[in-house]
Amino acid sequence: MQTVKGIPVSPGIVIARVFVLGEAETHVPHRDIDPTEVESELAKLDGALRDANADLVLLRDRTEQQLGREAAKIFGFHLGLLQDPALLGPMRDRIRRDLVNVELAVADSFKKVTDQFKSIGNEVFRQKANDVLDLERRVLGKLMGENESRLSKLSESVIIVAHELTPSQTAGMDRRRILGIATDLGGRTSHTSIVARAIEIPCVVGCQRLMERADDGDLVIVDGDTGVVVIRPDERTVQEYRTQQERFSAYRRVLRETAPLEAVTKCGQRIQLLGNIEFPHEVESVLANGGDGVGLYRTEFLYLTNDHEPSEDEQFQSYRRTLELLAGRPCTIRTLDLGADKYTQQRAHEPERNPFLGLRSIRYCLQNRELFKTQLRAILRASAYGPMKVMFPLVSTLMELRQAKMILNDVCEELDEEGIPFDRNLQTGIMVEVPSAALLARAFADECAFFSIGTNDLIQYTLAVDRGNERVANLYTGASPAVLYLVKQVIRSGRRAGIDVSLCGEVAGEAIYTMLLIGLGLRTLSLVPSQIPLIKRVIRSVDIEHCEQLARRVGSFDSERQVLNTLRDELRKIDPDSFGGWIAE
Ligand code: PEP
Ligand code: MG
Repeated sequence: MQTVKGIPVSPGIVIARVFVLGEAETHVPHRDIDPTEVESELAKLDGALRDANADLVLLRDRTEQQLGREAAKIFGFHLGLLQDPALLGPMRDRIRRDLVNVELAVADSFKKVTDQFKSIGNEVFRQKANDVLDLERRVLGKLMGENESRLSKLSESVIIVAHELTPSQTAGMDRRRILGIATDLGGRTSHTSIVARAIEIPCVVGCQRLMERADDGDLVIVDGDTGVVVIRPDERTVQEYRTQQERFSAYRRVLRETAPLEAVTKCGQRIQLLGNIEFPHEVESVLANGGDGVGLYRTEFLYLTNDHEPSEDEQFQSYRRTLELLAGRPCTIRTLDLGADKYTQQRAHEPERNPFLGLRSIRYCLQNRELFKTQLRAILRASAYGPMKVMFPLVSTLMELRQAKMILNDVCEELDEEGIPFDRNLQTGIMVEVPSAALLARAFADECAFFSIGTNDLIQYTLAVDRGNERVANLYTGASPAVLYLVKQVIRSGRRAGIDVSLCGEVAGEAIYTMLLIGLGLRTLSLVPSQIPLIKRVIRSVDIEHCEQLARRVGSFDSERQVLNTLRDELRKIDPDSFGGWIAE
């Protein structure tokens, strides 16, 4: 039994077998075999080599036809290598003599050849080393199976263990087959974690070297509340976690009773609780959890889950569907937040060196006008079907806001000329998620109708801590006095200008922050739908004066520890029983 501590990002406890999802060569199983298995391992090797050979012949012929003989030569090198006794001999020897499984024998032999090429220290041979790696991937892929086909052949539900997942991989997961997720990399507000929370799959990220320790088929426990992952647990530990699972289910049941109640403080102040969504169907979850509407619709997910660029009509259909499901409740739609960890890097010819500080969000849209205009047309067309507001992400200068509004106006004129209906009073706002926007909030407030504070990014850019990097996850916190100072200033500037201010970062869904956020003056929060009942429960247990006192006290602190301890203590005071075990650290 081994225990690994990661970062809890999506609550719940699951116990199931491991499914390692990753590049075949990054996780090669190591197994000692019995002498009676030698022949079958050798047969597997021959089969994989034959299949890889057949693929390569096909590829070589197709390339020759399409690009000419010169381009097809590369596959000649691969094919030659696949016949080379210097590569194949040691593979067979390892299986026969050292009695190891075929995957390990293959990986070891390829590694020797790659190292030889690399050691020559010349560019041509370094390139050859890459070709060898490519070939290794192909052969191991044949032996270990492609991830998707392996997944689809499974008869039982599993826990995915991966080095890293992209947000779109997570969004595409089938919840019936995948009970939980644990990854080596990632942080609490990385987009993969946000999606895991949205689809309610228990998830722990930042487990560092979990991939090295867990093998396909191992029993594993993933505790999405504490961040603990137990590999090959003993019977006693399994029993302990089963008891915890029951407690978690009971807690969920209690919360379900809170869902239909009103989010109103003891002194009668109504707080608007909206849901953050990525896809139209999540509106059902918002409503089932007692939400008042949608406060953040992350529209870029339509891009992430498609193999083509979504057309204007496809986008329009999604937005209209969302509004129809909301049946008159409000919806704040965010324009595309592509870039950073979403979409562009995976497709880039030349990846950016620093994507979170690069061509992201509104910057990407302003440089890709046609794509931006297409989305704005879809948004405006949908605005005729229900109450909607539109906001721009990651705005860092007034010029960006002005440009975005100008483009929006152009699109309005186009639609007018074409006689297409849209909401002429559509409100536009910005996400305040960069310190420059927070610091200049007074100026921004004169030029937009509302602010939505995005703490996920505001924390990362204020503290210079990558939100998805497990190595600095301990430095990433909404309890930072610097972040809280900016949040307070934004709320103040919004109030002075008479515009609405809400908050839609992940802290809106963390119970320890609820009193503080209300005390700072927020009356609208937008959060992951599954957390709405919990936050409602906190709201119903407090009064405004108490929250304001707490906000004043916290405002005088200069360390995040002090802030966190105080917030946790206050929350425990108002409801020691039900919050006790489930307060996010
Ligand atoms: C944020 O940055 O707080 C936010 C809500 O946006 P996202 O998490 O999609 O970057
Ligand atoms: Mg953001």
